[in-house]
Amino acid sequence: MSNGYDRKRVLVTGGAGFLGSHLCERLLKDGAEVICADNYFTGRRANIGHLLNHSSFELLRHDVTFPLYVEVDQIYNLACPASPIHYQHDPVQTTKTSVHGAINMLGLAKRTGARILQASTSEVYGDPVVHPQTEEYWGNVNPIGPRACYDEGKRCAETLFFDYYRQFQLPIRVVRIFNTYGPRMHPHDGRVVSNFIMQALTHQPITLYGDGSQTRSFCYVDDLIEGFVRFMALDGDEPGPLNLGNPGEFTMIELAELVLRLTGSRSAILHHPLPADDPRQRRPDITKAAQKLDWRPLIPLEDGLERTIAYFRHLIDNS
Ligand code: NAD
Ligand code: UDP
Repeated sequence: MSNGYDRKRVLVTGGAGFLGSHLCERLLKDGAEVICADNYFTGRRANIGHLLNHSSFELLRHDVTFPLYVEVDQIYNLACPASPIHYQHDPVQTTKTSVHGAINMLGLAKRTGARILQASTSEVYGDPVVHPQTEEYWGNVNPIGPRACYDEGKRCAETLFFDYYRQFQLPIRVVRIFNTYGPRMHPHDGRVVSNFIMQALTHQPITLYGDGSQTRSFCYVDDLIEGFVRFMALDGDEPGPLNLGNPGEFTMIELAELVLRLTGSRSAILHHPLPADDPRQRRPDITKAAQKLDWRPLIPLEDGLERTIAYFRHLIDNS
């Protein structure tokens, strides 16, 4: 499938983060000119170090809560801390990043006529009572809990995207991303995949929250990025929202046991209290993405974990 990126100018906010760095890499491969904007709150220059000498790559230190003036054809708005410990570190700033960031990037899209994709999240479904989650489900979010800065920030960003779409006919694409993992995740971001792998490789106890029966669905990063690029390239009036994720569903105990087996670690599993508002279950219904994009995840959890374990092993060996 041609994505028509030849010489297109594409802005990636949050481009020095986990997903953003993979997206920048992919867009450069497809022939785009990429501007990566990041304030390095959770992202790192090391994630995009290998791109710095690419003639079509430009790096800007920029905080999306402030306006940005560049000329672009497309915008992928990824800037926002994504892991619970990072987004709860400064919750007011998290909401500002989602809401002011969306307003600024939508304003930029309106001025330049750029197509704009919003990295929304399965967290808009909260602790879901509909399972698996379809795009029609409105969610079950606690608006005043510790996760609200992220969940409600992302929900308000979706509202802004759809109001710009209706009011100004802006070409928007809203993607709801379900838990995604892979190389370049931050080793200390507290997310379950990075935690379990780092703990297993360093012979620390595996921190299992609650009884470990809560479920998540894990998508390998390359699969997700393929979905992003296909959605952005889709012709016509296609605002979404579109779920992107891997429908394979695992309990956290199953994940812990799989990580222990794949790393050959003898770390013990230690139970910790379940964090407040931790969703009990999560699995995407990806029927829409399959129909519209002819897309489905190709990398099984075990293969993706092997690649991620190799990345963290290398990181530990070289630190
Ligand atoms: P990440 O923390 O690695 O990346 C986020 C990037 O945004 C970082 O580089 C960070 O420095 C940057 N950033 C944060 N605040 C900023 C600001 N005010 N201005 C400019 N840059 C800022 O996380 P990620 O996993 O790569 O997530 C990327 C996007 O995808 C986020 O919007 C996140 O909400 C969304 N998402 C990710 C997942 C997932 O499982 N990885 C799931 C759902 C949604
Ligand atoms: N979790 C866990 N141990 C950890 C980190 C997370 O058991 O060290 C659990 C957490 O309670 C949640 C699931 O793993 O049920 C996924 O957590 P994560 O923070 O990765 O993502 P999210 O809750 O945002 O889906």
